[in-house]
Amino acid sequence: MIPLSELHAESDWQVELQAVVRSGRQLLSQLGLDAQAVGYSELAGEDFPLKVPQSFISRMTHGDPDDPLLRQVLSVSAELLQVPGFGDDPVGETRDNITHPGVIQKYHGRALLILSGGCAINCRYCFRRHFPYNENRNSREEWLHAVRHIADDPSISEVILSGGDPLLVSDQQLKSLVGQLAAIPHLQRLRVHSRLPIVLPSRVTAGLVNALAGTRLQSVLVVHSNHGNEINTEVKNALRKLSSGKITLLNQAVLLAGINDTEDELADLSEQLFTAGVLPYYLHLLDRVRGAAHFEVTARRGLELITQLENRLPGYLVPRLVREDAGEPAKARVTAAP
Ligand SMILES: *Cc1c(COP(=O)(O)O)cnc(C)c1O
Ligand code: SF4
Repeated sequence: MIPLSELHAESDWQVELQAVVRSGRQLLSQLGLDAQAVGYSELAGEDFPLKVPQSFISRMTHGDPDDPLLRQVLSVSAELLQVPGFGDDPVGETRDNITHPGVIQKYHGRALLILSGGCAINCRYCFRRHFPYNENRNSREEWLHAVRHIADDPSISEVILSGGDPLLVSDQQLKSLVGQLAAIPHLQRLRVHSRLPIVLPSRVTAGLVNALAGTRLQSVLVVHSNHGNEINTEVKNALRKLSSGKITLLNQAVLLAGINDTEDELADLSEQLFTAGVLPYYLHLLDRVRGAAHFEVTARRGLELITQLENRLPGYLVPRLVREDAGEPAKARVTAAP
Protein backbone atom coordinates (compact mmCIF):
# COMPACT_ATOMS: atom_id res chain seq x y z
CA MET A 1 0.00 0.00 0.00
CA ILE A 2 1.16 3.50 -0.76
CA PRO A 3 0.33 5.93 2.05
CA LEU A 4 -1.89 8.82 1.02
CA SER A 5 0.82 11.23 2.13
CA GLU A 6 2.97 9.99 -0.75
CA LEU A 7 0.39 11.05 -3.26
CA HIS A 8 0.73 14.26 -5.16
CA ALA A 9 -0.61 17.60 -4.03
CA GLU A 10 -3.34 19.12 -6.13
CA SER A 11 -1.06 21.86 -7.43
CA ASP A 12 1.30 19.29 -9.02
CA TRP A 13 -1.12 18.07 -11.68
CA GLN A 14 -2.41 21.55 -12.36
CA VAL A 15 1.15 22.73 -13.05
CA GLU A 16 1.71 19.72 -15.35
CA LEU A 17 -1.52 20.50 -17.14
CA GLN A 18 -0.34 24.05 -17.84
CA ALA A 19 2.81 22.59 -19.40
CA VAL A 20 1.13 20.20 -21.90
CA VAL A 21 2.83 20.08 -25.30
CA ARG A 22 0.74 21.69 -28.04
CA SER A 23 3.37 21.84 -30.75
CA GLY A 24 3.92 18.88 -33.07
CA ARG A 25 7.40 20.14 -33.94
CA GLN A 26 8.35 20.25 -30.26
CA LEU A 27 6.96 16.75 -29.71
CA LEU A 28 8.85 15.34 -32.70
CA SER A 29 12.11 17.06 -31.87
CA GLN A 30 11.91 15.71 -28.33
CA LEU A 31 11.57 12.21 -29.79
CA GLY A 32 14.25 12.75 -32.44
CA LEU A 33 11.81 12.27 -35.32
CA ASP A 34 11.48 13.94 -38.71
CA ALA A 35 8.10 15.60 -39.38
CA GLN A 36 7.93 14.48 -42.96
CA ALA A 37 8.88 10.89 -42.32
CA VAL A 38 6.09 10.48 -39.75
CA GLY A 39 3.36 12.14 -41.86
CA TYR A 40 2.92 15.02 -39.42
CA SER A 41 0.33 17.63 -40.45
CA GLU A 42 0.06 21.01 -38.81
CA LEU A 43 -3.18 21.63 -40.72
CA ALA A 44 -4.87 18.58 -39.16
CA GLY A 45 -3.94 20.07 -35.82
CA GLU A 46 -5.84 23.26 -36.61
CA ASP A 47 -9.08 21.33 -36.87
CA PHE A 48 -8.50 19.47 -33.58
CA PRO A 49 -5.46 20.75 -31.66
CA LEU A 50 -2.55 18.55 -30.75
CA LYS A 51 -2.29 18.27 -26.97
CA VAL A 52 -0.25 15.82 -24.88
CA PRO A 53 1.15 15.87 -21.33
CA GLN A 54 4.91 15.41 -20.80
CA SER A 55 4.19 12.45 -18.57
CA PHE A 56 2.63 10.61 -21.53
CA ILE A 57 5.48 11.64 -23.86
CA SER A 58 7.99 10.21 -21.38
CA ARG A 59 6.50 6.75 -22.05
CA MET A 60 7.14 6.97 -25.82
CA THR A 61 10.23 5.38 -27.38
CA HIS A 62 12.80 7.86 -28.69
CA GLY A 63 13.28 7.57 -32.44
CA ASP A 64 10.33 5.22 -33.06
CA PRO A 65 8.00 6.67 -35.74
CA ASP A 66 5.44 3.91 -35.06
CA ASP A 67 5.33 4.32 -31.30
CA PRO A 68 1.77 3.35 -30.28
CA LEU A 69 1.48 6.25 -27.83
CA LEU A 70 2.78 8.80 -30.32
CA ARG A 71 0.32 7.59 -32.97
CA GLN A 72 -2.61 8.28 -30.63
CA VAL A 73 -1.76 11.97 -30.33
CA LEU A 74 0.16 13.10 -33.43
CA SER A 75 -1.87 15.01 -36.02
CA VAL A 76 -1.17 13.44 -39.42
CA SER A 77 -2.15 14.16 -43.02
CA ALA A 78 -4.36 11.03 -43.21
CA GLU A 79 -6.85 12.92 -41.00
CA LEU A 80 -7.57 15.34 -43.83
CA LEU A 81 -8.99 12.67 -46.13
CA GLN A 82 -12.75 12.70 -46.58
CA VAL A 83 -13.92 9.12 -46.22
CA PRO A 84 -17.57 8.19 -46.85
CA GLY A 85 -19.34 7.08 -43.66
CA PHE A 86 -17.10 9.12 -41.36
CA GLY A 87 -19.01 12.13 -40.03
CA ASP A 88 -19.00 14.76 -37.33
CA ASP A 89 -21.37 13.20 -34.76
CA PRO A 90 -21.14 9.41 -35.20
CA VAL A 91 -22.96 8.44 -31.99
CA GLY A 92 -25.77 10.98 -32.23
CA GLU A 93 -24.89 12.76 -28.98
CA THR A 94 -25.63 16.23 -30.17
CA ARG A 95 -28.94 15.23 -31.75
CA ASP A 96 -30.61 12.96 -29.27
CA ASN A 97 -30.65 12.12 -25.64
CA ILE A 98 -29.89 15.55 -24.24
CA THR A 99 -32.70 15.59 -21.69
CA HIS A 100 -31.32 18.56 -19.83
CA PRO A 101 -28.30 20.83 -20.43
CA GLY A 102 -25.21 18.80 -19.54
CA VAL A 103 -27.13 15.52 -19.04
CA ILE A 104 -27.32 12.62 -21.53
CA GLN A 105 -29.81 9.86 -20.78
CA LYS A 106 -29.46 7.14 -23.29
CA TYR A 107 -29.63 3.90 -21.26
CA HIS A 108 -31.98 2.67 -18.54
CA GLY A 109 -31.15 3.73 -14.99
CA ARG A 110 -28.06 5.68 -15.91
CA ALA A 111 -27.60 9.39 -16.46
CA LEU A 112 -24.41 10.76 -17.91
CA LEU A 113 -23.35 14.16 -16.65
CA ILE A 114 -21.00 16.18 -18.84
CA LEU A 115 -18.68 17.89 -16.40
CA SER A 116 -15.96 19.41 -18.47
CA GLY A 117 -15.55 19.86 -22.18
CA GLY A 118 -11.77 19.67 -22.18
CA CYS A 119 -9.24 16.88 -21.83
CA ALA A 120 -5.60 16.75 -20.74
CA ILE A 121 -4.80 14.94 -23.97
CA ASN A 122 -6.35 15.07 -27.41
CA CYS A 123 -6.70 11.57 -28.84
CA ARG A 124 -6.87 11.73 -32.61
CA TYR A 125 -9.55 8.99 -32.83
CA CYS A 126 -11.89 10.73 -30.38
CA PHE A 127 -15.54 10.78 -31.44
CA ARG A 128 -15.90 14.16 -29.76
CA ARG A 129 -13.23 15.78 -31.91
CA HIS A 130 -15.76 17.94 -33.75
CA PHE A 131 -17.95 18.84 -30.78
CA PRO A 132 -18.50 22.52 -30.20
CA TYR A 133 -17.19 22.24 -26.65
CA ASN A 134 -16.34 25.23 -24.64
CA GLU A 135 -13.79 24.08 -22.10
CA ASN A 136 -15.29 26.08 -19.25
CA ARG A 137 -18.94 25.82 -19.91
CA ASN A 138 -20.11 24.08 -16.78
CA SER A 139 -21.14 26.81 -14.45
CA ARG A 140 -22.14 26.02 -10.88
CA GLU A 141 -25.66 26.94 -11.87
CA GLU A 142 -25.78 24.35 -14.63
CA TRP A 143 -24.57 21.65 -12.23
CA LEU A 144 -27.24 22.63 -9.78
CA HIS A 145 -29.92 22.23 -12.44
CA ALA A 146 -28.50 18.89 -13.57
CA VAL A 147 -28.41 17.59 -9.99
CA ARG A 148 -32.00 18.75 -9.43
CA HIS A 149 -33.06 16.94 -12.60
CA ILE A 150 -31.44 13.70 -11.35
CA ALA A 151 -33.09 14.15 -7.95
CA ASP A 152 -36.48 14.45 -9.66
CA ASP A 153 -36.11 11.20 -11.62
CA PRO A 154 -36.25 8.13 -9.36
CA SER A 155 -35.55 5.80 -12.30
CA ILE A 156 -31.90 6.91 -12.19
CA SER A 157 -29.74 4.74 -9.90
CA GLU A 158 -26.34 5.55 -11.35
CA VAL A 159 -24.72 8.81 -12.32
CA ILE A 160 -21.81 8.74 -14.75
CA LEU A 161 -19.48 11.70 -14.68
CA SER A 162 -18.07 12.19 -18.14
CA GLY A 163 -16.82 14.95 -20.39
CA GLY A 164 -14.32 15.69 -21.94
CA ASP A 165 -12.55 14.57 -18.82
CA PRO A 166 -14.54 15.05 -15.60
CA LEU A 167 -11.43 14.86 -13.42
CA LEU A 168 -10.25 18.21 -14.75
CA VAL A 169 -12.47 19.75 -12.08
CA SER A 170 -10.72 20.44 -8.77
CA ASP A 171 -10.89 18.06 -5.80
CA GLN A 172 -13.01 20.63 -3.99
CA GLN A 173 -15.56 20.85 -6.81
CA LEU A 174 -15.65 17.08 -7.14
CA LYS A 175 -16.16 16.59 -3.42
CA SER A 176 -18.98 19.10 -3.42
CA LEU A 177 -20.72 17.44 -6.38
CA VAL A 178 -20.34 13.94 -4.90
CA GLY A 179 -21.88 15.27 -1.69
CA GLN A 180 -24.88 16.63 -3.58
CA LEU A 181 -25.33 13.35 -5.44
CA ALA A 182 -24.98 11.23 -2.29
CA ALA A 183 -27.87 13.19 -0.79
CA ILE A 184 -30.22 11.87 -3.51
CA PRO A 185 -31.76 8.74 -1.95
CA HIS A 186 -32.45 6.80 -5.17
CA LEU A 187 -28.83 6.98 -6.36
CA GLN A 188 -26.75 3.88 -5.63
CA ARG A 189 -23.68 4.26 -7.76
CA LEU A 190 -21.30 6.91 -8.94
CA ARG A 191 -19.27 6.19 -12.00
CA VAL A 192 -16.42 8.32 -13.36
CA HIS A 193 -15.10 7.96 -16.91
CA SER A 194 -11.63 9.48 -17.05
CA ARG A 195 -8.38 9.13 -18.93
CA LEU A 196 -6.48 11.34 -16.47
CA PRO A 197 -5.20 8.59 -14.12
CA ILE A 198 -3.48 7.12 -17.21
CA VAL A 199 -2.20 10.20 -19.01
CA LEU A 200 -1.55 12.42 -15.97
CA PRO A 201 -1.18 10.09 -12.97
CA SER A 202 -0.36 12.97 -10.63
CA ARG A 203 -4.11 13.72 -10.86
CA VAL A 204 -4.64 10.90 -8.37
CA THR A 205 -4.42 13.06 -5.26
CA ALA A 206 -5.47 12.20 -1.72
CA GLY A 207 -8.43 14.52 -2.29
CA LEU A 208 -9.55 12.49 -5.29
CA VAL A 209 -9.22 9.15 -3.50
CA ASN A 210 -11.18 10.57 -0.57
CA ALA A 211 -13.92 12.02 -2.76
CA LEU A 212 -14.52 8.65 -4.46
CA ALA A 213 -13.89 6.33 -1.50
CA GLY A 214 -15.50 8.44 1.21
CA THR A 215 -19.10 8.51 -0.02
CA ARG A 216 -22.08 6.24 0.70
CA LEU A 217 -22.37 5.72 -3.07
CA GLN A 218 -20.53 2.77 -4.61
CA SER A 219 -17.82 4.27 -6.76
CA VAL A 220 -16.64 2.91 -10.08
CA LEU A 221 -13.78 4.50 -11.99
CA VAL A 222 -13.51 3.58 -15.66
CA VAL A 223 -10.12 4.57 -17.00
CA HIS A 224 -9.12 4.59 -20.65
CA SER A 225 -5.88 2.96 -21.72
CA ASN A 226 -5.18 1.46 -25.13
CA HIS A 227 -1.68 0.02 -24.83
CA GLY A 228 0.46 -1.68 -22.17
CA ASN A 229 3.22 0.91 -22.67
CA GLU A 230 0.89 3.49 -21.10
CA ILE A 231 0.99 1.64 -17.78
CA ASN A 232 4.33 2.62 -16.20
CA THR A 233 5.27 2.48 -12.52
CA GLU A 234 3.81 5.88 -11.72
CA VAL A 235 0.48 4.94 -13.30
CA LYS A 236 0.48 1.62 -11.44
CA ASN A 237 1.10 3.32 -8.11
CA ALA A 238 -1.69 5.80 -8.75
CA LEU A 239 -4.15 3.08 -9.80
CA ARG A 240 -3.26 0.85 -6.87
CA LYS A 241 -4.02 3.69 -4.51
CA LEU A 242 -7.48 3.92 -6.01
CA SER A 243 -8.11 0.17 -6.09
CA SER A 244 -7.03 -0.32 -2.49
CA GLY A 245 -9.87 1.92 -1.41
CA LYS A 246 -13.44 0.84 -2.08
CA ILE A 247 -13.37 1.92 -5.69
CA THR A 248 -13.99 -0.57 -8.50
CA LEU A 249 -11.56 0.01 -11.35
CA LEU A 250 -12.37 -0.87 -14.96
CA ASN A 251 -10.77 -0.01 -18.29
CA GLN A 252 -12.17 0.85 -21.66
CA ALA A 253 -9.99 0.80 -24.74
CA VAL A 254 -10.56 1.57 -28.38
CA LEU A 255 -9.38 -0.96 -30.97
CA LEU A 256 -7.02 1.04 -33.18
CA ALA A 257 -5.18 0.04 -36.33
CA GLY A 258 -1.41 0.21 -35.92
CA ILE A 259 -1.71 0.80 -32.16
CA ASN A 260 -3.23 -2.22 -30.42
CA ASP A 261 -4.69 -4.47 -33.12
CA THR A 262 -2.59 -7.54 -32.32
CA GLU A 263 -3.15 -10.40 -29.90
CA ASP A 264 0.14 -9.73 -28.07
CA GLU A 265 -0.58 -6.05 -27.49
CA LEU A 266 -4.12 -6.61 -26.24
CA ALA A 267 -3.01 -9.46 -23.95
CA ASP A 268 -0.23 -7.30 -22.56
CA LEU A 269 -2.66 -4.43 -21.97
CA SER A 270 -5.02 -6.69 -19.97
CA GLU A 271 -2.16 -8.09 -17.91
CA GLN A 272 -0.59 -4.71 -17.21
CA LEU A 273 -3.95 -3.32 -16.17
CA PHE A 274 -4.59 -6.21 -13.82
CA THR A 275 -1.27 -5.74 -12.03
CA ALA A 276 -2.62 -2.29 -11.21
CA GLY A 277 -5.97 -3.62 -9.96
CA VAL A 278 -7.95 -2.75 -13.11
CA LEU A 279 -10.22 -5.16 -15.01
CA PRO A 280 -10.75 -4.79 -18.75
CA TYR A 281 -14.36 -3.79 -19.46
CA TYR A 282 -14.97 -2.60 -23.00
CA LEU A 283 -12.98 -2.79 -26.20
CA HIS A 284 -14.74 -0.34 -28.51
CA LEU A 285 -14.81 -0.53 -32.24
CA LEU A 286 -13.90 2.88 -33.57
CA ASP A 287 -16.67 5.47 -33.79
CA ARG A 288 -16.72 6.56 -37.39
CA VAL A 289 -15.70 10.16 -36.88
CA ARG A 290 -14.29 12.32 -39.66
CA GLY A 291 -10.48 12.30 -39.58
CA ALA A 292 -10.13 8.90 -37.90
CA ALA A 293 -10.69 6.48 -40.79
CA HIS A 294 -7.06 5.36 -40.79
CA PHE A 295 -7.56 3.91 -37.28
CA GLU A 296 -10.43 1.61 -38.23
CA VAL A 297 -10.24 -2.12 -37.55
CA THR A 298 -13.04 -4.30 -38.92
CA ALA A 299 -15.53 -6.09 -36.67
CA ARG A 300 -14.33 -9.37 -38.17
CA ARG A 301 -10.73 -8.70 -37.11
CA GLY A 302 -11.96 -7.51 -33.70
CA LEU A 303 -13.80 -10.79 -33.14
CA GLU A 304 -10.76 -12.76 -34.25
CA LEU A 305 -8.65 -10.93 -31.68
CA ILE A 306 -11.21 -11.56 -28.91
CA THR A 307 -11.17 -15.29 -29.72
CA GLN A 308 -7.37 -15.28 -29.51
CA LEU A 309 -7.55 -13.53 -26.13
CA GLU A 310 -10.14 -16.05 -24.89
CA ASN A 311 -7.79 -18.89 -25.80
CA ARG A 312 -4.89 -17.28 -23.98
CA LEU A 313 -6.14 -15.41 -20.91
CA PRO A 314 -8.45 -16.02 -17.96
CA GLY A 315 -11.99 -14.97 -18.86
CA TYR A 316 -11.92 -11.93 -16.59
CA LEU A 317 -9.04 -10.44 -18.58
CA VAL A 318 -10.96 -10.51 -21.87
CA PRO A 319 -12.82 -7.25 -22.62
CA ARG A 320 -16.21 -7.14 -24.33
CA LEU A 321 -16.10 -6.01 -27.91
CA VAL A 322 -18.72 -3.29 -28.37
CA ARG A 323 -19.94 -0.78 -30.86
CA GLU A 324 -21.84 2.41 -30.14
CA ASP A 325 -24.99 2.68 -32.21
CA ALA A 326 -27.22 5.72 -32.08
CA GLY A 327 -30.68 4.88 -30.76
CA GLU A 328 -30.03 1.40 -29.26
CA PRO A 329 -31.07 0.46 -25.68
CA ALA A 330 -27.52 -0.59 -24.76
CA LYS A 331 -24.03 -0.50 -26.12
CA ALA A 332 -24.17 -3.14 -28.81
CA ARG A 333 -22.03 -6.17 -28.08
CA VAL A 334 -20.33 -7.33 -31.25
CA THR A 335 -20.75 -11.08 -31.61
CA ALA A 336 -20.78 -11.58 -35.36
CA ALA A 337 -19.17 -9.75 -38.20
CA PRO A 338 -21.62 -8.09 -40.61
C1 LIG B 1 -21.59 4.21 -22.54
C2 LIG B 1 -22.66 5.02 -21.99
C3 LIG B 1 -23.25 4.68 -20.77
C4 LIG B 1 -22.79 3.49 -19.95
O1 LIG B 1 -23.06 2.28 -20.55
P1 LIG B 1 -22.61 0.93 -19.81
O2 LIG B 1 -22.95 -0.14 -20.76
O3 LIG B 1 -23.37 0.86 -18.53
O4 LIG B 1 -21.14 1.04 -19.54
C5 LIG B 1 -24.28 5.47 -20.31
N1 LIG B 1 -24.72 6.55 -20.98
C6 LIG B 1 -24.18 6.90 -22.16
C7 LIG B 1 -24.72 8.09 -22.87
C8 LIG B 1 -23.14 6.15 -22.71
O5 LIG B 1 -22.60 6.51 -23.88
S1 SF4 C 1 -9.42 11.52 -23.26
FE1 SF4 C 1 -11.32 10.60 -24.07
S2 SF4 C 1 -12.72 12.33 -24.44
FE2 SF4 C 1 -10.61 13.15 -24.23
S3 SF4 C 1 -9.79 13.27 -26.32
FE3 SF4 C 1 -9.16 11.28 -25.48
S4 SF4 C 1 -10.77 9.85 -26.12
FE4 SF4 C 1 -11.60 11.93 -26.36
